[in-house]
Amino acid sequence: MTKPATNLSENPYLADSQFPQFGSFHVEHIEPAVSQLLKDNRKVIENLVADTSQPTWQNFVEPLEVIDNRFEKVWGPVGHLDATMNSDEWHQAYTNCLEQVTQYYTETGQNAGLYQKFNQLAESAEYKTYNLAQQKVIENALRNFRLSGIALPKEKQVIYKELKQRLSQNSSQFGNNVLKATQAWYKHIKDESEIAGLPESAMGLLQQLAEQKSLEGWCVTLDFPSYLAVLTHADNRDLRAEVYKAFSTRASDQSDHTEFDNSALIETIRADRHKLASLLEFKNYAEYSLATKMAESTDQVLGFLRDLAVKSKPQAEKELATLKAFAKTALGIDDFQPWDVTYASEKLKNETLSLSQEKLRPYFPVETVLNGLFSITETLFNIKISVKEGVETWHEDVRFFELTDETNQVVGHFYLDLYARENKRGGAWMDSVITRWKHPQGQLQTPVTYLVCNFTPPIGDKEACLTHDEVTTLFHEFGHGIHHLFTKMEQLDVSGISGVPWDAVELPSQFMENFCWEREGLNFISSHTETGETLPDDLFAALKKGRGFQSAMMMLRQIEFALVDFELHTFYNPDAPEDVLDIVQRIRNEVAVVQPPSYSRQLHSFSHIFAGGYAAGYYSYKWAEVLSADAFSLFEETGILNSETGMHFKNTILAAGGSVDPMVLFKAFRGREPQIDALLRHSGIHA
Ligand code: ZN
Repeated sequence: MTKPATNLSENPYLADSQFPQFGSFHVEHIEPAVSQLLKDNRKVIENLVADTSQPTWQNFVEPLEVIDNRFEKVWGPVGHLDATMNSDEWHQAYTNCLEQVTQYYTETGQNAGLYQKFNQLAESAEYKTYNLAQQKVIENALRNFRLSGIALPKEKQVIYKELKQRLSQNSSQFGNNVLKATQAWYKHIKDESEIAGLPESAMGLLQQLAEQKSLEGWCVTLDFPSYLAVLTHADNRDLRAEVYKAFSTRASDQSDHTEFDNSALIETIRADRHKLASLLEFKNYAEYSLATKMAESTDQVLGFLRDLAVKSKPQAEKELATLKAFAKTALGIDDFQPWDVTYASEKLKNETLSLSQEKLRPYFPVETVLNGLFSITETLFNIKISVKEGVETWHEDVRFFELTDETNQVVGHFYLDLYARENKRGGAWMDSVITRWKHPQGQLQTPVTYLVCNFTPPIGDKEACLTHDEVTTLFHEFGHGIHHLFTKMEQLDVSGISGVPWDAVELPSQFMENFCWEREGLNFISSHTETGETLPDDLFAALKKGRGFQSAMMMLRQIEFALVDFELHTFYNPDAPEDVLDIVQRIRNEVAVVQPPSYSRQLHSFSHIFAGGYAAGYYSYKWAEVLSADAFSLFEETGILNSETGMHFKNTILAAGGSVDPMVLFKAFRGREPQIDALLRHSGIHA
């Protein structure tokens, strides 16, 4: 990296270049650039609010788009580099700025002047002449302002702010309690025979955990990898039972550490959420959650979940019966218990499925997979993907690609950062670098995305090979990528992935995964490193079989979580709230095949809904899966690599970004409402 410029005009973050100048960024550029950016933006907003003329798209929305676009281009790379090229110095600068950025967001979201301008615009005669995307931008802005409490009378705004603040504190407290409760419990193991059955890697983990506590031998903790290793592999049934109990009672009245009990917080959070929703004139918190989602009503969500549950339950019961019979004959377990489920399942899986991810690896050399993915994309969507040289990246392993259409016009670009390395955050993700947008001066800005994975890097000069899981991950992120890149929108806030509701945003990503499970797709992406052979039929069959293993039981588990989350946010009577434990039990009686013991308090550590953003939204996982599977079923009907169907998908679901209600888009693509059959079939559930 070059020496930092001290002059703001030379700050590469603020340079108006086509792509971020990764080669020139220096940690010392960050804070001056962000401060300048926020200062400039505030000035623009201030002037817009002070302007007394009638707001129009041109004099009001366009200047906002200009500053938002600049914001993405300046701030985006800071966060991106924090995740991919982390250093203490960088992270400190990022965190310092994050505070300012959050403050800026809060203040913009609460700006009564902006809200009033948007209102004036929506009521103007000109509004009716706007296209649907423009109208959607205005509609979304107004909706978000209303949800931020800005439209409330003054005294209610005060209550709103108090509620928001308390909710935020209590959510954070909830998460803290889960963390502390998880850390408070551990079991020191001195005798190796007590943890017989654990594979070497898990033994290593437990040893490490002991070392961290300056103990000899091994340590079982409630961190997920440790918990899972014991529940999956430990032959010692008493140990499994003990760890199961400790884990499922974390942060509850049933735990040994009642100081972290979340019971009271659950009640307060529920009550406050209900108050917040009522204040904004929603019937309940679930309705408030749905205001920004694709699902139309609480009845629709509940009906959807129950439909899936009813269709999955008979098979889940059979799966459980098979498991119990196996546990009895092969493992000598007569009185099957919840802490036997994972253990017995692992043994059953090993016995009936011969396929390991490692066995598949040689069939998926990275270059073959990439070329296959690109060929599939080119065939389906009538575009061309090629390497573009000479663009700065953040690491030598990162590659840059260009997409062009049939007339050789540039559609967009993406960065691909495939391998794990030190100082790079784990997991895989896609993010927007630049959003497709028509500049007020008329030029069209084409979109750019990051695609980041953490695959095992090549060793020596041997090409890296991927497991099937990793291949699927790559397709998933690529699906998010094309959602952003194939958009036809020109309005910043509804272009690409912008403005797409949460429960619909996983549609294109999960859709792309399907190609990894089809013969036609696998022919493109598999080629054995030594023989060049595509994935053989027997391995393909085994792969499919593995996909269906206990899928109905897993489906019901997720539905149970989703229903509990949704019901406790839908049916809330402030005068006589139904006991949460009763809700959980009622839903378990309805959908679960494995009944946890009465001491179980899984709700008390359900951080997704009490400490995260998934309140009355956990259903989204299944919802998006249904959409993606059902969308893919049109390819099953018309041909997996049918480019006509591909173009139809591109021109409806992918092109519209967040400008049109996803249900409308889905129907335009599929010709009907979504159905759950395809997901059930793909999961191997025969309803
Ligand atoms: Zn995703």
